[in-house]
Amino acid sequence: MDSRTLKVELQSYGLRIPDSKNIRRGGAGPTGGIHLRILPDTDANVPVVGDFVKSSPYHLDKINGEDWIFRDEVALVQVELMGNGRFYDHKTSSGIPMQKIGLLHCPTTFATTLLQTCDFWNDERRCQFCGIELTLKDRSTVGFKNAKALVETIQLAKELDGISNIVFTSGVAPDEEKALEKYAEICSEVKEHTGLPIQLQIVPPEDLGWLERLKSSGVDALGVHIETFDPEIFEKITPGKAMIGLDRYIETWREGVRIFGRWAVSTYILVGLGERLETVIDGAEICAEIGVYPFIVPFRPIAGTPMENVKPPKAEVMEYVYSEAAKILSRYDGGSKSGVAGCVSCGECSVLPDFEMLHESKTVKLKKFIKSIPVN
Ligand code: SF4
Repeated sequence: MDSRTLKVELQSYGLRIPDSKNIRRGGAGPTGGIHLRILPDTDANVPVVGDFVKSSPYHLDKINGEDWIFRDEVALVQVELMGNGRFYDHKTSSGIPMQKIGLLHCPTTFATTLLQTCDFWNDERRCQFCGIELTLKDRSTVGFKNAKALVETIQLAKELDGISNIVFTSGVAPDEEKALEKYAEICSEVKEHTGLPIQLQIVPPEDLGWLERLKSSGVDALGVHIETFDPEIFEKITPGKAMIGLDRYIETWREGVRIFGRWAVSTYILVGLGERLETVIDGAEICAEIGVYPFIVPFRPIAGTPMENVKPPKAEVMEYVYSEAAKILSRYDGGSKSGVAGCVSCGECSVLPDFEMLHESKTVKLKKFIKSIPVN
């Protein structure tokens, strides 16, 4: 089995591991996973917690002290697991453990949720899959991270762990203007003291003038996440975002691309929320036409959310979606290789970048073949 197919299968079915008690189970982004380097040279974040993982054909075990992935008891490939960040052992000058300020989502990306609450989360606007406030309840993070603590933590993560980029996400703030002011201040401080590329993830702001201000505050890339292009699922699963409306997302993406550049703006598209598959492909086309990277990922259930018992989509579904999206991206000559910071530059929660590479190499081979055919 090639590593691309293995990654798709692992993200759909999960990996059983001997001990999952220290795995992050809430917060932003696909949680409940671990980072793996599949030797020799490819990386993935794969789910290891949740009921669906118990029936996975894949498990992790040791052979002569080395970590290997097994399928149905047959050893497939050796892997390396990402250890804890070295900065996790330290505290900020005000005594907060740095692990509560941010985490490594992969060896190169420092990630944190600036505002760990969401105005949508406690009423009917809540996204049904989202676990943003769960990590506040279990006290594994703090509600709002200030610039000083972030600068200290990121500087140390850069020094000790060699991170190369940052992703800041956030819930929806009750006072958007105030929150954006704060984000701009944080990004500016972090950029000044670390120089690292920053991706900021936000909902479409009321005033699009904010995008220019964020850019001049040191933000390099923007994540504005629609999650689904299926109108019914938009209303049912992400009602707060549906109130903002697709048109507003599109306006924000267009303005974002004008300011940050093509492929520096991205959006998550989740597969497995109950959507019609053609809406995922059509959505990828809409994004690519604008110059927005469609970060397609399989839905991953989080315990404690209304969708905790929904399984991720089957691997065959993801294979199909990835290969169609890769074809679309190649027509627009863009994609994950242009990602400067955050989820797109890490890319491990999705296998789309691997399908883009596959498509690219097939096209190159085909072009060479065509050139080698005598015309007469
Ligand atoms: S907007 Fe939706 S996904 Fe984002 S933090 Fe709020 S509830 Fe979660």
